[in-house]
Amino acid sequence: MNTELTGHSLLGNLTVKESGATFRAINPGNDEPLEPEYHQLAGSSVDAVVAQAKAAFPVYSSKTGAQRAEFLRQIAANIEGVIESLVERMPAETALPEPRVRGESGRTAGQLRMFADLIEEGSWQDARIDTADPDRQPIPKPDVRSHLQPLGPIVVFCASNFPLAFSVAGGDTAAALAAGCPVIVKAHHSHPGTAELVGQAVMKAVASCQMPDGTFALVYGSGREIGTALVQHSAVKAVGFTGSRGGGTALMKAAAARPEPIPVFAEMSSINPVVVLSEALHAHSDQLAQGLHGSVTLGLGQFCTNPGLVFLPEGEAATAFTETLKSLFDETAKGCSLNQGIAESYRAATAASAALAQAGVVVHTANTAPDGGSACQVGPALFQVSAKAFLANEALHQEAFGPATTLVTYRNESDLVEALESLEGQLTGTIHGTQADLSGASTIIAALKSRVGRLLFGGFPTGVEVCHAMVHGGPYPSTSDGRSTSVGTMAIQRFVRAVCYQNAPDSLLPEALQNENPLKLQRLVNGQSTKESL
Ligand code: NAP
Repeated sequence: MNTELTGHSLLGNLTVKESGATFRAINPGNDEPLEPEYHQLAGSSVDAVVAQAKAAFPVYSSKTGAQRAEFLRQIAANIEGVIESLVERMPAETALPEPRVRGESGRTAGQLRMFADLIEEGSWQDARIDTADPDRQPIPKPDVRSHLQPLGPIVVFCASNFPLAFSVAGGDTAAALAAGCPVIVKAHHSHPGTAELVGQAVMKAVASCQMPDGTFALVYGSGREIGTALVQHSAVKAVGFTGSRGGGTALMKAAAARPEPIPVFAEMSSINPVVVLSEALHAHSDQLAQGLHGSVTLGLGQFCTNPGLVFLPEGEAATAFTETLKSLFDETAKGCSLNQGIAESYRAATAASAALAQAGVVVHTANTAPDGGSACQVGPALFQVSAKAFLANEALHQEAFGPATTLVTYRNESDLVEALESLEGQLTGTIHGTQADLSGASTIIAALKSRVGRLLFGGFPTGVEVCHAMVHGGPYPSTSDGRSTSVGTMAIQRFVRAVCYQNAPDSLLPEALQNENPLKLQRLVNGQSTKESL
């Protein structure tokens, strides 16, 4: 199968230099390197890669919505066409099992098709028209029309934990291509072969749909050198990133320090609080313990929505719940993390919690060391602390990326609200309550809502529906910009800006804003939503 993989960046017809440095993916299951060697791009070639994307922008962005939709659907079909190669390669690079590869591939193709439908219909452009009134007093009213237009070349960093759905042709790439922006993807060093298989699928679609060279590029190289140089390049107009807080904030700083600063949409760290109210705990203790255990250990906890914090009312019911949960954690087999760096960070974060015994942290389970398997092997961890001790310890507020959670017991509502208000921004917040619990919980709900992007009533936060209304984002540091989402069609708003035309002749307006409404868009005309022409 490796004959399919070239070990080089995918740049169409562009000839570039490589630095001479190479790397291989490491199989997390046995710590063995995988073929082929991947060659890193030379820093001096970044300019040529971005120049190609810049040249593609005016051509690609002027393709019709239908043409770009066909392109996105072709990418989806091409990814489905290499599913057996992905099933062979991705588990070897990531230790993720075959059903996950098939599921994530389906989600990736589904996202691309959802964006295709969106741009074919076209109303996402948010066309607004305010017609002129020359007789208005004291001054005439001008004709003002606006809609959303693509930004230009976008850089997307692949995520270690979603090799398909948040990587080469994942949500950010789909949203940017849908908007009309060329995309340069920086591959993650953990899964270069998976990246290349998907990159080849995109490149084939570029060719068969006759999109310009530079519409898409896949680059191998170090984040600090090549990734930073891409973000600093003046022709790049926005960045999508999923990964560590250190990496995300470094890129935010690089983008902000440019002569022309650009937005960075970074998804970084989240501990996703779950609040259990009193009646719900008494009524559904075992069911909640099982659901929580399933959510914390799903995918070895390597989800940005992993519930890392659970608030419980102090008392006998919390003790019984904790005993059930502890026995579930103790019975959980160890698993293999995505890579050695993630396993080491997880062990360091859980060790930091365990070291806080003096400060009131109870360690129920912390069997995180490898059992003679690969260095990537980790097991689950369960801690408990009072709300007061939680407030006093910053370390307990940090993400432990893996199958760990901390139970925080509260004495009363003000304890709980104070703890919730002390949290950093989160992707999600979940509340479990009976009808009676919830009817008296408006202050708690408001405190939770103020910290999160998605508020769940019941259930658990892992599993993010890909749909039009989804918000997978949240206040800093869960994301760098809590006004946007990386999942769902609203993600297209990351890569556009509103442009407005004043008193422009009809023939010079984009079709979306012309009087006849040739694209049959839903538009806001003088404050009324309509598809009518003017
Ligand atoms: P990462 O180390 O931040 O790497 C992600 C990407 O950013 C890689 O391409 C990396 O390049 C690049 N990068 C990292 N630091 C950089 C810097 N200072 N300047 C420029 N580029 C930089 O994240 P990861 O490898 O995916 O996972 C590490 C940790 O991130 C995990 O243990 C976990 O704590 C966290 N994480 C969080 C989420 C979430 O959604 N909450 C998801 C995944 C990971 P290289 O290829 O050179 O490394």
